[in-house]
Amino acid sequence: MPGTTGGSRALLRALRSAMAGAAEGRARLDTVVGLIASNMVAEVCSIYLKRDENTLELCATEGLRPDSVHSARLRVGQGLVGRIAERAEPFATDDAENAPGFRYLPETGEERYRSFVGVPIQRLGEVMGVLVVQNEAARIYEDDDIEALEFVAMIIAEMTEAGAFLDSAGLAAGPGRRQGPLRLAGRSASDGLAEGPVHLHEPRLVNFDPIADDPAVERARMSEALTAMRGHVDQMLAETGPGHGTEQRDIFEAYRMVAYDKGWSRRLMEAIDSGLSAEVAVEKVQSDARARMERVADPYLRERLHDLDDLANRLLRHLIKDDAQPAAAPEGAILVARNLGPGELMDHAGHVRGVVLEEGSLSSHAAIVARALTIPMVVQAERITRDANNGDQIIVNGDTGRVHLRPEAPVLEQFQGQIAEAAEAREAYRELVGLPAETRDGVRVELKMNAGVLADLPSLAMSGAEGVGLYRTELQFMIRQRMPRREAQAALYSRVMDAAAGREVIFRTLDIGSDKVLPYMRREREANPAMGWRAIRVGLDRPKLLSMQIQALIRAANGRPLSLMFPMIAEAAEFYEARDLVETEIDRQAGLGHPRPSDLKIGLMFEVPSLVAAPDRLFDEADFVSVGGNDLLQFFFAADRENERVRGRYGTLSLSFLDFLSGIITRCAERGTRLSFCGEAAGQPVSALALAAIGFRELSMRAASIGPVKQALIGTDLAAVRSAIDDLRRRGESDARPVISAMLDGRQ
Ligand code: PEP
Ligand code: MG
Repeated sequence: MPGTTGGSRALLRALRSAMAGAAEGRARLDTVVGLIASNMVAEVCSIYLKRDENTLELCATEGLRPDSVHSARLRVGQGLVGRIAERAEPFATDDAENAPGFRYLPETGEERYRSFVGVPIQRLGEVMGVLVVQNEAARIYEDDDIEALEFVAMIIAEMTEAGAFLDSAGLAAGPGRRQGPLRLAGRSASDGLAEGPVHLHEPRLVNFDPIADDPAVERARMSEALTAMRGHVDQMLAETGPGHGTEQRDIFEAYRMVAYDKGWSRRLMEAIDSGLSAEVAVEKVQSDARARMERVADPYLRERLHDLDDLANRLLRHLIKDDAQPAAAPEGAILVARNLGPGELMDHAGHVRGVVLEEGSLSSHAAIVARALTIPMVVQAERITRDANNGDQIIVNGDTGRVHLRPEAPVLEQFQGQIAEAAEAREAYRELVGLPAETRDGVRVELKMNAGVLADLPSLAMSGAEGVGLYRTELQFMIRQRMPRREAQAALYSRVMDAAAGREVIFRTLDIGSDKVLPYMRREREANPAMGWRAIRVGLDRPKLLSMQIQALIRAANGRPLSLMFPMIAEAAEFYEARDLVETEIDRQAGLGHPRPSDLKIGLMFEVPSLVAAPDRLFDEADFVSVGGNDLLQFFFAADRENERVRGRYGTLSLSFLDFLSGIITRCAERGTRLSFCGEAAGQPVSALALAAIGFRELSMRAASIGPVKQALIGTDLAAVRSAIDDLRRRGESDARPVISAMLDGRQ
């Protein structure tokens, strides 16, 4: 076979009939190694499969000692075989003994064989094992030999995945279906607990015949699917239209270039010519691309890999005539995916209980939507799409970021207990919806919600929120493929005001930049994006963008009251400039016949510590100040809020931070400026108690937090918390959390 596609097809066909004939997994593997050995004119052919993450086991051999099967083992990285598995790259030598890393396995009797060629058995970038061919004589294996072996390895990978090597006693001759409990530590992107069966968003294609009878038919299918897929991409590009800005077109153009890439289609056709079915050819080419690109550090190129993944999935769906629609998740399932777009999550939102992503980030669009819909979500759960099978039981702990796949019974039981408790607590919070948040010693705190996507609106009524303290307008920009026009923005803001039914909504103008990236805006590479060109800085440098948003807000208000605030104000002058822009726009819009807001409140976010030293005039002229505790904390402690290593080191309940906040409270009180707090800490009962104790009377948080925070406040004597904090300060302590937590726990 080596080198000729006809020969390789003949081997593939022989493999397929062997598969159909042999009944047991072990017998199948034996047949496979026998066929390869005779086809490659080799004395030895062996298959090593991964037993677990680090161990390779000899699972079948032609030529080595039969009793070494299932007893000869290597660690990944050890010996030539282990290195192939580690590097996911083929290796050939005509002098095995002297090859770097060589390690002889005495139980196999392999010392006689000088020539060695091995290729990884891998699927979609995951190494499942190693296929090895050995000869006694010194033989130089050509590229064609290696390529032919890689194809066979690919078939073995497909078969392994499909469980073809499970023996009749139910014991795996190879890894096959993944088994056994697994704990994964990811990052919490949306809190809450959930448990249910896995639903793989892009299920692995396990039911395809990897080998095709007629390459001409497969080529035709592939051409048809490529044409359909490219047509779809062209349509997307056409829809962006010339009026949508060059950045957005650039993105689609890059995507389109990948779709039309000649090298890609050539590799797909070559894979078919070697005997693969069209579907498996897509996987094979994608697998190779992943293996190549995963080593690339350049973020731009890695983005292209995402494009390629996405296009490969589209191509597969066209091939299987799935109308490019992924299967709906069953009721109560946990959605597991490599990555997920916000629209895709919305498609599943009604019936999934939780989401686990292999990639994704806290600020990914899917995470934003998950938080709005209160769907527990864990991101960056490494290898989850490879380790999970459809239907496996899985636990998602959105509070800690932990995932338990196929949990042991006691873990599951304990977790189900926690879920039941959480449901009971939610029931208790529901009873508080109509009650004011008033502490035992009579302090009234206004609780508002943070919002940003339409999915948030039902919570306005259900949570008992007294208004929207922070409407993150950028989210709507982030989850779209193109810049929303003024009319679309106005329609959305108007819906939000309608849903608020007279309660105040504070719209924050676009806070883009840093971790909030618009897909259609060219991203400047910045060494320190959190301290870079973001938020109001972008707004003032691109006044058209800001003006358009302000026009949309004025039109949405349509004569109703309007409250808005600017993010990341660092200097008073920035506030004055932005405010003047609003006032000018109101006059202009009035000239065009759009009524002035009946009541206009213009505020600013206190997110940069410099503002504590801002002139009094700023506090006099701002209608309100809202502390953005997330950013303020990161700048106060110089600790990146996105950097897992440092973000946990410093907390809102640090005495020094609380003192700093007290300084803000004092400045606002002196000038009579209304003050609120809208960072994440407002939604954590312990922090909320501390914030209220030092003087905040308006807290804005995720809707789901209103119940727990209200419950905590209602049962608290705030004066006691205040004196506990004073006491800690006098004693020179640095963290108030343990004491306030104990006070809260003691009460329950
Ligand atoms: C904040 O920084 O606290 C805040 C509310 O803004 P965001 O989290 O959107 O940056
Ligand atoms: Mg912020």
